[in-house]
Amino acid sequence: MSSAPEAILAGLPADIVRTGADELAPHLLDWRGQKRGQALALLLPRSTEDVQHIVRWAGAHSVGLVPQGGNTGLVGGGVPEADLARLSVVLSMRRMNRISDVDARGLSLCAEAGAILADVQGAAERAGCRFPLSLGAKGSATVGGLVSTNAGGVQVLRHGPMRSLVLGMEAVLPDGSVLNQLSALRKDNSGYDVKQLLIGAEGTLGVVTRVALKLAPAFADVSTAWAAVPSAEAALQLLARLRSGLGERVESFELLSADTLALVLRQLPDSRAPLETRSAFHVLMEVEASREALETLLAGTMEAGDVLDAVLAGSRAQAEALWAMRENVAIAERQEGKSVKNDISVPVERIAAFDAEAVQLFAREMPGSRPLVFGHLGDGNLHWNLLPPAGVESGPWVEANAEAARRLLHDLIARYRGSISAEHGIGTLKAAELARLGDPGKLSAMRALKAALDPLGIMNPGKLFV
Ligand SMILES: Cc1cc2nc3c(=O)[nH]c(=O)nc-3n(C[C@H](O)[C@H](O)[C@H](O)COP(=O)(O)OP(=O)(O)OC[C@H]3O[C@@H](n4cnc5c(N)ncnc54)[C@H](O)[C@@H]3O)c2cc1C
Repeated sequence: MSSAPEAILAGLPADIVRTGADELAPHLLDWRGQKRGQALALLLPRSTEDVQHIVRWAGAHSVGLVPQGGNTGLVGGGVPEADLARLSVVLSMRRMNRISDVDARGLSLCAEAGAILADVQGAAERAGCRFPLSLGAKGSATVGGLVSTNAGGVQVLRHGPMRSLVLGMEAVLPDGSVLNQLSALRKDNSGYDVKQLLIGAEGTLGVVTRVALKLAPAFADVSTAWAAVPSAEAALQLLARLRSGLGERVESFELLSADTLALVLRQLPDSRAPLETRSAFHVLMEVEASREALETLLAGTMEAGDVLDAVLAGSRAQAEALWAMRENVAIAERQEGKSVKNDISVPVERIAAFDAEAVQLFAREMPGSRPLVFGHLGDGNLHWNLLPPAGVESGPWVEANAEAARRLLHDLIARYRGSISAEHGIGTLKAAELARLGDPGKLSAMRALKAALDPLGIMNPGKLFV
């Protein structure tokens, strides 16, 4: 880039450009507070035409474009790199947040990329249906970010991740052309399904501008319960029993270790333990069935010894209080200090064995380190995080041990034929590990796609690839 930054930015409409340090600052720091980036400016498009203009401008000036939604991503993907030769701008989609075409009969709606997840959920509920994807960051995470990370959350068990919920998409590709696959068709076999490439691409193949999303009918009946279970294996038995009794109607099945629950209780003064019973693990479950049906299934599992104790929510408010215990884990963990965050998956039936082996591995190789295990057990996806030994300052410990800890855990994952990223994505945090452990055939196809669609390398430089 030869011209001065001011001259380059002059090629954009002034009302979408921000260069003030205070306005840029929150966009340059990731949610965990662990990565600080650098950018020439913050751009705030209002329309797809604005995005198209910006993408063409970036290509002409060789400026990196870093799409950003709610900046709640956990792998550093939405923050520009501080150390690349190429200058970047943050492309915040937050002003493009309209929700339209809510179709309760056809079960779909249309949302711009900057629409916030909680607002999408609210729009669906007002129309008498629901958008079946939720996660702890629902008050800030946007449709564009959720699509671009192929986010999961607490209902994947029944409805799948974001990839299963996208019916149509509009996006601006790196050459400035618009991909218009927005129609909410349930079936379309007319050649490559290009929108699927952008789902989970973490902003490296284009800018998602609008999405048609699949909705689900409102619950006929819904019940929520919290159970104390003696082991992860017992939790799997409980899941099997629920599924044999209710089939597809098991909506969520979340696991928290005793240490995870203790951390939430320690960090969030308003939280209360749902049960007095002490146990190695806890399960939060939600099913589309009556309270009586869930109670009967839990009673049977208690007789078999797989559940030690359980409580059923008596109202929606009680159910929400139980959900808050799960959804606030990430916030409690951030308050506690730094940790080595991992987001892994293994085949569901092997997850208890994996957890037991990982606990032994870290007790041997990193004595004193404290695993913090929670997540979406029904999907085979655990957040297998690591806290420093008690009393040790977290920042320096994480800095010194994160890489070795990740390598240990990921080598074990490779043995279990699992994934080093179940739902958060690769970003910069796991790019080196993807290069080390990823399937060479897949990596070379990824590089070929990137080179074909973005030959100038303007889209989210430095992410996914090392
Ligand atoms: C408390 C908490 C709980 C969470 N729980 C879960 C969970 O249960 N399951 C789960 O899957 N994830 C979870 N996450 C992480 C999850 O990835 C993000 O919350 C969400 O998907 C990111 O949305 P965002 O709008 O904040 O995206 P950002 O963080 O802004 O961006 C994420 C990535 O998407 C790209 N991107 C953003 N918008 C666009 C766009 N319009 N076009 C192209 N690329 C774009 C960015 O460049 C970046 O690479 C959690 C995060 C937090 C903080």
